[in-house]
Amino acid sequence: MDRPVIALKVDVDTWTGTRDGVPRLLEILQRLGIRVTFYFSMGPDNSGKAVRRIFTRKGFLRKMLRTRAPSMYGMRTMLSGTILPAPMIGTSFPHILRSCETMGHEAGIHCWDHVDWHDHLPRMGMEKVAAELNRAGKTFADIFGHPASTTAAPGWTISAASLAVQDGLSLSFCSDTRGEAPFYPMFDGRRFTTLQIPTTWPTMDETLGENGITPGNVNDHYLALLRPGLNVHTIHAEMEGMAMAKEFIDLLERLQERNARFITLGDAAAEFSANAPLHRIYMGEIPGRAGKVAIQGERV
Ligand SMILES: [Zn+2]
Repeated sequence: MDRPVIALKVDVDTWTGTRDGVPRLLEILQRLGIRVTFYFSMGPDNSGKAVRRIFTRKGFLRKMLRTRAPSMYGMRTMLSGTILPAPMIGTSFPHILRSCETMGHEAGIHCWDHVDWHDHLPRMGMEKVAAELNRAGKTFADIFGHPASTTAAPGWTISAASLAVQDGLSLSFCSDTRGEAPFYPMFDGRRFTTLQIPTTWPTMDETLGENGITPGNVNDHYLALLRPGLNVHTIHAEMEGMAMAKEFIDLLERLQERNARFITLGDAAAEFSANAPLHRIYMGEIPGRAGKVAIQGERV
């Protein structure tokens, strides 16, 4: 059987995750000889504003309690952008961002303002979406010395406007969706030209607490999902790089025992995109996550 292939996508959402989670992940990945793709939030950390969802979104309080978000993320993050000012993430830690590339990893743009994108994208026009991505792109280019070649939307939240703006940025690929295999997107009746590399596994925060899955057996669950060909797993600097680092190391070691081959999403775009089909995207619900995400739908 062909070796299973794993592309790890690292979402970095917060100031604390960038400062503490990313260096911890870099140390783990270097020790195990694994290259990944980091997606950075470049602008203000307004994550404290996400607490508003306790009151506005069904299921969010349950999820917060289940994952014990306050103890996972820390009070600094929970209050950031509310009673504490929102610190700028990218410009606070340019050396940490650059170290990802110098250590052989790939880097791309998650967003300018994670909370703003996740909560307000459906109501943003093209100009506002372009302004968000251009601000993130300028900060990225200032830090890395070259433009970003890939983006990944916060919370798998997309719109026709975001896909159109991304098409205009001449990106190599994007990773905004949940699904099965790389594809070209169709949404709201329109075709778009930027390849999508979807996340194929559930995230750890979606998985824990569902169906009796605990930190002690979550990796058994992941290994059961491993299939031939490309598997894409999204991790978070704030989870796997912090409170869940021990479980993450165990997962990587067990995947290496299974002879898994680890590649970046850029490698995956090069290796698995030949004859990539056109698929519809729809916004739908997935187990363990409040709100809707962009899902790879039927082939067109
Ligand atoms: Zn994120």
